[in-house]
Parts: sequence; C-alpha cells; structure tokens
Amino acid sequence: MASIARNLQAITAQLPAGVSLVAVSKFHPVDEVREAYDAGQRLFGENHAQELVAKVPQLPADISWQFIGHLQTNKVRMIMPSVAMIQSIDSLKLLHVVSKEAVRINRTVDVLLQLHVAKELTKTGFTVDEVLQHAATGAFAQVPGVRFRGVMGMATQTTDMAQVAHEFATIRHTFDELQRQYFAGDAAFNQVSMGMSHDWHVAVEQGATMIRVGTDIFGPREY
Ligand SMILES: *Cc1c(COP(=O)(O)O)cnc(C)c1O
Repeated sequence: MASIARNLQAITAQLPAGVSLVAVSKFHPVDEVREAYDAGQRLFGENHAQELVAKVPQLPADISWQFIGHLQTNKVRMIMPSVAMIQSIDSLKLLHVVSKEAVRINRTVDVLLQLHVAKELTKTGFTVDEVLQHAATGAFAQVPGVRFRGVMGMATQTTDMAQVAHEFATIRHTFDELQRQYFAGDAAFNQVSMGMSHDWHVAVEQGATMIRVGTDIFGPREY
C-alpha cells in the first residue's frame, strides 16, 4: 500500500465512531490529494483561497472541501462555490460577508465558529467571552445562507500536554454551552473540530468530533 493510504488507515483505525478526519492537503500537490481520495478519503482541508480554487477543478466533485485558514473578506466570493464548510469564522464581519455571498449565489454554507483559546497572539478567532456575548445578543440567530455546525479551535503549540488538554476541554465546554443555550433542538449544530498531527489523540479524548491532520498523512510541507 502506498504511504498516504497507509497513513490514512493508521489514523482512521484509531478514531472512535462519530469522529471524522479532515485530511489537510495545503501545500501538497493534486496527485497526493488524489492518492488520498483513491484510498477513500473525502474530507479535505485547505487554508489558502487561491490554492483551494486551483485544486478543486482538478479533483473529483464529491470531495467535501473544508476551509480552515484565516479568510479575508475579499476572498469569500472566490471560494464560495467550492467549499462545503468554512471552519474559520473568526469575526462577525466575516460572518456577514459569508452570509451575503451565500445568499447571492443562492446556496447555504456550513460554518464553524473559530475559538481563540491558545496562548499565541497570532492565532485568530473569538475568545470564549466574545462568542458567548455575540450568541447572547442574537448574532448567530437567523443568519441567511449560513448553517451553524459548531466550533473549531487550535491548542497552543507546546509539549505541555496538560495545557493542550485544558485548552481542548475549554473548546468542548464552550460548544456544549452554545448548544445548550442557543442551538438546543438544532441537530445540525454538532461539530467540534480540534486536533492536528501532534495533538489529535488529546483532542479526541476531550470530545473532538472532527480532527484536521496534514503532516501525519502527507508528510512535511515544503513552503
Ligand atoms: C495546517 C493546519 C492543520 C494540520 O496541521 P498538521 O500539523 O500538519 O497536522 C490543522 N488545522 C489548521 C487550522 C491548519 O492550518
């Protein structure tokens, strides 16, 4: 078996039922994405708009493309026809642009609210307080063209796995709180996307429903 297929197999064999795998293909060429596709993988994650739109037409139409990077509002129009889900809604401004564009092309797009729980200031997303405040003021109620599916987040880049576990637990608890208070009865609000190559085991232990793995599937990226 080719190594990409073997790597996918090694991860999926360890995933509990109900946890899905996003293969993060950023910076990896189309033929490697195809190799993963041929091994049965259907969810792929990209974090650059141009790279995503260049890859999409070269690959099968039943791929579910997940946008996972910081999305500039002026790139929303470019990716909207191609993405199944935007996991990185990190501001109300972006949410509104996504909504407007989805309505304009007459579609509904799945989104996750990105939470900022890590110590790095470079990471984007709503703080826990911000997301709960926005929810309380109705910012996530009835947004046309948008289906809220849950939350996404990243832990601090550290070898301190207790800290990583704590941050993932915070993401999971924030999801639970949003679900209980604002999305009760909305069966679609059911996703907690967290965990990457080095920390996905911890994320699964803390209640991830979706992990995003690049390096452990495709090897190191060449920037
Ligand atoms: C690149 C990236 C990943 C995957 O990272 P690996 O360490 O290669 O598994 C996951 N999530 C986001 C948001 C990313 O940008």
